[in-house]
Amino acid sequence: MMPVVPPAYRGRFAPSPSGPLHFGSLIAAVGSYLQAKSQQGQWLVRMEDIDSPRMQAGAADGILRTLERYQLLWDGDVWVQSHRLERYQQVLDLLKQQQLTYACNCNRSRIQSLPHGYDGFCRDKQLTEGSLAWRLKAPATATVFTDQLVGAVHIPVALAAEDYILKRRDGLFAYQLVVVVDDLDQGITEVVRGADLIDLTTRQQALFQLLGAAPPDYLHLPLAVTEPGFKLSKQNHAPAVEFWPVSETLTAVLRFLGHPPPPELTGANAKELLAWASTEWQIRQIPTQNEQKAADFL
Ligand code: GLU
Repeated sequence: MMPVVPPAYRGRFAPSPSGPLHFGSLIAAVGSYLQAKSQQGQWLVRMEDIDSPRMQAGAADGILRTLERYQLLWDGDVWVQSHRLERYQQVLDLLKQQQLTYACNCNRSRIQSLPHGYDGFCRDKQLTEGSLAWRLKAPATATVFTDQLVGAVHIPVALAAEDYILKRRDGLFAYQLVVVVDDLDQGITEVVRGADLIDLTTRQQALFQLLGAAPPDYLHLPLAVTEPGFKLSKQNHAPAVEFWPVSETLTAVLRFLGHPPPPELTGANAKELLAWASTEWQIRQIPTQNEQKAADFL
């Protein structure tokens, strides 16, 4: 019998170019990079610019220049979601043909009034007229998955089992669909990202299975917050790391991720710090709490 050779590691960083990189997104970039490079794997970068009204002109370029400045050099070409609309439609059509979707014309105020997520109101209506969203008939989804860092994660049933949107009424594809199609098409073997997305993982795994593919592994890094419950984000104007001093900032990121560089690397450049961290990187050193205060590391 032929030995089974595991696929080579392929990770990714998938920023949304709705603004410049901040300390929180740099943590996701560095964590996913080191997880890939410590296993001699590939690290891909993908621009998640699908929600076009929220995108900021020039942000995608700014993010790439910032990654370069921190020596986070990606493998292959950068994928851009807005260039892949035909592929997303093709996958949606496939799901439609398999009767795994339905059209929905519920308005925003009705949806917002529902206490436990979408209630399947349009499931049996066979709607064909007007502006319609497309929802997935959520399969009997598992409510627990194994995260590579924290182990068993329990997801609220209402969230795991919701018939969530694949394509919005305004015609935009939803993150939920495109993230899975891209992770599948790019052959990603492990998703490393911030813990803010942890609750969406079982949905994504279920969609992989509906598409006939095994899902990748998932590892969620602690989230950088200003105060408990308040993550650093573009929405709350987290400062851009674009022009921060590279050595100090990268050292702060490594400390945040449980890998403080030794004193002899004080002031080392990005290349030296990343080379050191790639050899030292161990999942079990990453803190397992969901959040950490950014200010404690800066
Ligand atoms: N584009 C998402 C973000 O910037 C990340 C999505 C993912 O890693 O699955 O928060």
